Amino acid sequence: MPRPALAVPLLLLAAVAIAQEHHDRAANDPFTLKPLAGNVYALYGRGGNVGFYVGPDAVVVVDSQFKDLAPGIVEKIKSVTDKPIKYLVNTHHHGDHVGGNEVFRHFAVIIGHDNVRTRMLASPAEIAPIIRSSGTFNVKARRLAAFVDFLGRRYGGRVEKMAGEEPWELRRQLLEVPGIGRETADCIVLYAAGHPLFVVDGYTRRIFSRLGMIRGDESYDDVQLFFMRRLPGETRLFNDYHAQIVGLAQQSCRARPRCTGCPLDDLCPKRGVA
Ligand code: SF4
Repeated sequence: MPRPALAVPLLLLAAVAIAQEHHDRAANDPFTLKPLAGNVYALYGRGGNVGFYVGPDAVVVVDSQFKDLAPGIVEKIKSVTDKPIKYLVNTHHHGDHVGGNEVFRHFAVIIGHDNVRTRMLASPAEIAPIIRSSGTFNVKARRLAAFVDFLGRRYGGRVEKMAGEEPWELRRQLLEVPGIGRETADCIVLYAAGHPLFVVDGYTRRIFSRLGMIRGDESYDDVQLFFMRRLPGETRLFNDYHAQIVGLAQQSCRARPRCTGCPLDDLCPKRGVA
């Protein structure tokens, strides 16, 4: 007799509820397997529990516990069925619910709410190894994690939703995130959100003070205002302008300038250049 359409979702719901309970067990005896109803089982283990449903073709698992326990979860499931484990549902971002993802990802599709994914990505420990080559990676990882956390809380983890915010309001919010200063906030508003806020950096100050257009020691906001009052407020222009400044500063207007060959050589009064 065919199973009613609602049965599988209800059984999975039961498995989710079980997975969100917590039981402590000894490390050498991490699991007790308990059949529940139909083809739904619970694994009572260390930390968050695991639920699984044996379907006609495959097994759906709810939560993966700690990484070191995941192989044991797989073994327990195999003791019940030889059907493949094809899906893993994450109910929670804590390590005792998702640590085993590292094992399951090799053979199962992992499904989770957007917020679970966002909160997992907001872990400095996850980010640091990825950006190790960038230098001071632990500090940067904490800052990136703080930004991802902000993106998740304020905009449901969606950059396109963040981009819909009024640009100065977005800038104000970003400046409240630990580790984000004016230049970083403006880069996010310009490059990620696509709004025309002018980015001021050390290269801007160096080039335009040598050109005699600013002193170079003005506040960030004053330098930004200087450009935004004089340029059309166009995202593409600001984007290109900043790229041109970086290019000029790295090729010609370096700390020790190479004025010969600089495209601004004829115009530049070379203020402060020895
Ligand atoms: S001419 Fe020299 S000082 Fe002026 S912008 Fe070019 S490299 Fe810089």
